[in-house]
Amino acid sequence: MRTTVGIIGAGPAGLLLARLLHNAGIDSVVLESRDRAYVERRQRAGILEQGTADVLRAAGAGERMDREGLRHDGIELRFDRTRHRVDFPGLTGGRSVMVYAQTEVCKDLIALQLREGGPLLFEAEALAVEDAGTDAPRIRFRHEGREDVLECSYVVGCDGFWGVARKAIPAGLTQVFERTYPFGWLGILADVPPSHDELVYARHDRGFALLSMRSPAVSRLYLQVADGTDPGAWDDEEIWDELERRFETDDDWYLQRGPITQKTVTPMRSYVHEPMRHGRLFLAGDAAHIVPPTGAKGLNLAAGDVVTFARALIHRQETGSPELLDAYSRTCLRRVWQAERFSYDMTTLLHRAPGATAFEDRLQLARLERIASSRAAETDLAEAYTGFPFGPAGE
Ligand SMILES: Cc1cc2nc3c(=O)[nH]c(=O)nc-3n(C[C@H](O)[C@H](O)[C@H](O)COP(=O)(O)OP(=O)(O)OC[C@H]3O[C@@H](n4cnc5c(N)ncnc54)[C@H](O)[C@@H]3O)c2cc1C
Repeated sequence: MRTTVGIIGAGPAGLLLARLLHNAGIDSVVLESRDRAYVERRQRAGILEQGTADVLRAAGAGERMDREGLRHDGIELRFDRTRHRVDFPGLTGGRSVMVYAQTEVCKDLIALQLREGGPLLFEAEALAVEDAGTDAPRIRFRHEGREDVLECSYVVGCDGFWGVARKAIPAGLTQVFERTYPFGWLGILADVPPSHDELVYARHDRGFALLSMRSPAVSRLYLQVADGTDPGAWDDEEIWDELERRFETDDDWYLQRGPITQKTVTPMRSYVHEPMRHGRLFLAGDAAHIVPPTGAKGLNLAAGDVVTFARALIHRQETGSPELLDAYSRTCLRRVWQAERFSYDMTTLLHRAPGATAFEDRLQLARLERIASSRAAETDLAEAYTGFPFGPAGE
């Protein structure tokens, strides 16, 4: 098999890239190790920055998102039993975010790809990227019980944190920046209308909590828990009781309970692999970087990377100049590090580290008070949350 762009992974990065290339008349093949049902069910992110939503629309993949997604013009910060709303459009000159689950983004892109795009092979596991540093990289993969080779002009590793693409970059050329956190998120899906119409980020002495949603009928809620917690160790009533405590306020707000349909624990990690390119192998999304989910940036960074790659390849095809492809890693990393900074800031602002001192507690509250009382501090948060533009310079 031969193609211009071999894409490993059919998460949001790989699927969006295939769509952008298809629209530009560039052929690609997507290899995905899991089956379609698994990819379409995997619960993960749910917040699309304005730029991500715009890219999906421009790619012809925004129709259902615009019908079923929920436009959000703000978030609520909750601390010390008080509530503070951050008004995104008022602070950013009109920007907002879209609540539309990653599962739905993937379903829409898969349907489009199967209907109009190039090959998308499920249960096709990439085993290795070979000759990455040359003009003729290859992906060795296994599909339907036999091994095959995909010859490519370019390979894009969109295969997430545990994928194989990153391993093809020689260790001697690589630098890794990493931080783990001593806590994770116990996340639930519940068949109950959200108790608030915008996301609520709560800082509490017992730990962080987040109220989010997937639709007007389905709530998504999270509790900070100790690293390595078994989700089965929490029974449903215990989860609701703990959420209620962490969201407590002095007014009459209350948390509506409902049947819990899913419980998972997500570890928290910050990770950046530099560079994001080696020869004709490019890394995109979680294959190159991870952020803790507090800033809602993971999926949005993945979208930014593949937009950058697609623009650079189109530029190369149209002008013959490799300039933007050569700048790929540098361009992406500027945006990646801004998202790393913001995600780290939000995480340390809102979570209570084990053994945190009274001094650190007071500092957290002071940081939150500062956001609630200073337009400059609040604008900084709103700009970062609604997203950094997908400009060629990553500005
Ligand atoms: C449990 C969890 C919860 C999360 N929650 C949030 C959240 O609430 N908010 C937020 O913003 N972000 C969240 N994220 C992050 C966000 O979901 C990711 O940043 C996003 O999925 C990145 O997309 P991606 O396409 O780069 O990678 P992925 O979505 O990981 O997709 C990679 C794809 O590659 C496939 N693959 C892997 N190896 C191979 C191989 N060898 N051959 C072929 N295919 C392969 C995988 O099966 C997968 O389909 C979460 C992540 C996780 C893991």
